[in-house]
Amino acid sequence: MGDSRIRLRLRVGGTVQGVGFRPFVYGLASQLGLGGFVLNDSRGVVIEVEGHHSDVEAFTRALIAEPPPLARLECVEKSEVRLRGSDHFDIRASEIDGAVLATITPDVATCAACLEEIRNRSERRYGYAFTNCTNCGPRFTITTGVPYDRARTTMSTFSLCSECRSEYTDPGDRRFHAQPIACPRCGPQLRLVDGHGAPLDGDPLAGSAAALRGGGILAIKGLGGYHLACDATDAVAVAELRRRKGREAKPFAVMVPNLEWACRLAHTGPEETAVLASHRRPILIVARRAETLLADEVAPANRDIGIMLPYTPLHDLLMRSVGHPIVLTSGNLSDEPIAHEDVDALERLGGVADGFLTHDRPVHVRCDDSVVRVVGGREYPIRRSRGYAPEPLEVPVPFARPVLAAGPELKHTFCLGTGNRAILSHHIGDLANWTAMSAFMEGVEHFTRVFDVRAEVVAHDLHPEYLSTKWALGLEDVEAVGVQHHHAHIASCLADNRRAGAVIGLALDGTGYGDDGAIWGCEILTCDSAGYTRAAHLRYVPLPGGAAAVREPWRMAAVYLHAAFGEDACDLGLDFVGRTADRWRPILSMAAAGINAPSTSSAGRLFDAVAALCGLRDRVSYEGQAAAELEQAADPSVAGAYPFPLLDGTLDGAALVGAVAEDLIGGLPVSEVAARFHNGLAEGLRRACEWVREEQGLSTVALSGGSWQNLLLLDRVTRGLESAGFEVLIHRRVPPNDGGVALGQAVIAGSLANAPGG
Ligand code: ZN
Ligand code: ZN
Ligand code: FE
Repeated sequence: MGDSRIRLRLRVGGTVQGVGFRPFVYGLASQLGLGGFVLNDSRGVVIEVEGHHSDVEAFTRALIAEPPPLARLECVEKSEVRLRGSDHFDIRASEIDGAVLATITPDVATCAACLEEIRNRSERRYGYAFTNCTNCGPRFTITTGVPYDRARTTMSTFSLCSECRSEYTDPGDRRFHAQPIACPRCGPQLRLVDGHGAPLDGDPLAGSAAALRGGGILAIKGLGGYHLACDATDAVAVAELRRRKGREAKPFAVMVPNLEWACRLAHTGPEETAVLASHRRPILIVARRAETLLADEVAPANRDIGIMLPYTPLHDLLMRSVGHPIVLTSGNLSDEPIAHEDVDALERLGGVADGFLTHDRPVHVRCDDSVVRVVGGREYPIRRSRGYAPEPLEVPVPFARPVLAAGPELKHTFCLGTGNRAILSHHIGDLANWTAMSAFMEGVEHFTRVFDVRAEVVAHDLHPEYLSTKWALGLEDVEAVGVQHHHAHIASCLADNRRAGAVIGLALDGTGYGDDGAIWGCEILTCDSAGYTRAAHLRYVPLPGGAAAVREPWRMAAVYLHAAFGEDACDLGLDFVGRTADRWRPILSMAAAGINAPSTSSAGRLFDAVAALCGLRDRVSYEGQAAAELEQAADPSVAGAYPFPLLDGTLDGAALVGAVAEDLIGGLPVSEVAARFHNGLAEGLRRACEWVREEQGLSTVALSGGSWQNLLLLDRVTRGLESAGFEVLIHRRVPPNDGGVALGQAVIAGSLANAPGG
């Protein structure tokens, strides 16, 4: 004891590769005069340190207490080993062996030190768009294999110049073993080409900035693929982008040059600023200011705006040159996945973009921007992708067998489960699209390989027509487990909160296949990750015309009016969105005859019905549009609530809609009607939870499903439940919408695999 010499072996797991961990360890060991080595292997980092007992202890303490900013230590195993007499410290080459447990880190926004370099004329990387270091830069989108090394990234074809090589090999340098290290002499180069791919003369950044300022539409190759960009203050340019992209009304995201601009456009407090400036750099949806320079066409009739800060040197240099906000939206047509390969981008976006700001560093994994909101001062994810994926999520109950969850159909992600980690993929998109389907299959292949997980169980949705279901059922040598959609939502919320016990689940969304074959969507479940009971649900109504009813909210208005008033519905004289009774009578006959009218308890369709009655929306051009507009129409200061009674396990949506119709006929303003509708829904749900609590003694409620993107509903329900003594769990790490479903599927299938004989 005392100050005798010892040698300690440490195995560190977690996010420890590609985050400057080895140079940090080198620096720390050198400072303390310790001998030994550090190396990356496929499970993480192995360290041996030898020296005085007290110095070795100080080393271990500092390692755990002050790791580099991007590192995340999940486990540190220590064991004392035989003294070797080492008096100096080495960084050794990577070792490849057994199971891969190391993590591929998400892409990281440019760090302050790199930003300073590209802005400083005396630096050799001045103005260089591909500057990065161990603390920042591309990771996930350029990685082709593990362990994380330059040879297994899309930088492998660029050979280092002598200056970069000396930085790369100097343990004291910020770029020591920065795998994507590059400089203007040896790294990727920008190019500006016209809409047909012909090169344009001059400096690509200056040319791009001039094109944007002049009202042009540019395709810009970023980290995870191509964006489409135009001047966000130019109404003509934004309208033209909408026309060419085939995107009618769905809001565009905006990139601002800096935080001052963010503050000029939106109401950003300290929490919002922290989220915007975080190294993950998501799009933040936040309340917009009334008077801004932004063109109305950016987010038509919307109180909110999606903004983000530059996250690569390319974006930073471009934004400094443009000097004001630009629209930066996925490089695709309507619902296709974002283009990420150069030839494909030129083909698909050639008719949309006037020019391409591109470069010769390939994107290996297509990855969209992430989208978050701030709720209660903390991040509330809407889309988890660039900057977040594929960071593993710790789950409370380890997977007994490796699991692959095939995910839902829309807002698709998939998930691998192994040990105590769930690896949720980046956003894939709408699987009905072939490009997305192939991105899904390639993604599974890539994740399976780099995370070295060979699934023994595949979880899938119960919907027989989902392409992910069909794909899962076609796999060989794995056990297939069907998981009910809303059960998956609630299990996802539980895992998100690192919880495993039984809860009341309020699963509210547009569509999910029920175990009775109906289309579910407003479900009160009692469940844990092993199973569920449907305690209550919204009373079924017909969905007249199936998919047509999703596109045309007025159909749901007709159905709900009929449910509320019977045959008298046609004589109310209620003329909503220009549709008089004559026009919707045929829909009712069709529903009554049961022609193409499946039963539904969807919450989304209830919102649609009310939005249509309020005259807000006749046809939707994107998913959830009518519900979003109803939320925005509501006056949050209105306190009244419509009745939403619970009778024999069913919530009576017709009572709610009946009250809406009567107030509209009576001339009550839409802002008040919309608010009372939200309040009524919240009160009804709270009473239903109280009833379940009395019956079953559960007092924790988990909220999941796409309807919880409605922050007014989220606020009313959370407050109501909390004041009634419930504990409320909401999403924090994965989205409440279908983007989080795969996590729930994985956890449920994992817990079945855990069960004895399962
Ligand atoms: Zn950096
Ligand atoms: Zn170089
Ligand atoms: Fe859903």
